[in-house]
Amino acid sequence: MMDNESLKTIFFETYHGEEIVNCIQCGSCSASCPLASKMDFGPRQLFALAREGFMQDVLSANTMWFCVSCYGCTVKCPRDISITDHMYALKKMAIKHKLTHSKSKMPMMYKSFSDPVKKFGKITDTSVIFRYAFFHPIDIMKNSRLAFNLAKKSRLDILIHPIKNLIGFKKVINKALELEKE
Ligand code: SF4
Ligand code: SF4
Repeated sequence: MMDNESLKTIFFETYHGEEIVNCIQCGSCSASCPLASKMDFGPRQLFALAREGFMQDVLSANTMWFCVSCYGCTVKCPRDISITDHMYALKKMAIKHKLTHSKSKMPMMYKSFSDPVKKFGKITDTSVIFRYAFFHPIDIMKNSRLAFNLAKKSRLDILIHPIKNLIGFKKVINKALELEKE
């Protein structure tokens, strides 16, 4: 596992996390966050930990996975810190460094959405369901009645319809992934 100091350097230098040194710990972000009560640490605490170098605790927290990108915190921050963007960066880092919160199902949910986009150019109901079901079959079984009712009302698309010019789209995605690695 990568050490705290190296993770902090990556967060600060690769993901522009260094702006959190401007945080004055006012708490406006946590107070305006609709999901703060569910989070291991609200955004204010998360940044305090990151600033002090406790990056392994930060990356294994459930905080980022509860963030719904409402931007409520970002518009309230008196120091113009891109809080929501940092939540995305920390999610990426948690996955990359294999530190994702052990009980959170959200990393797999995210992957269930992004994999079909890479493959078909868009999200399709069945591809998301099958990918998620592979890792969390009980959740899918619990919701099978809902799926059945949606299918009956033609609200669940069983077939996969890739986008037009899928080859061109894949070139763009591959280029973006290449650039991200640099
Ligand atoms: S609102 Fe901004 S300055 Fe205040 S605690 Fe949150 S990140 Fe820090
Ligand atoms: S963007 Fe995320 S962290 Fe910020 S207030 Fe919304 S849910 Fe909370």
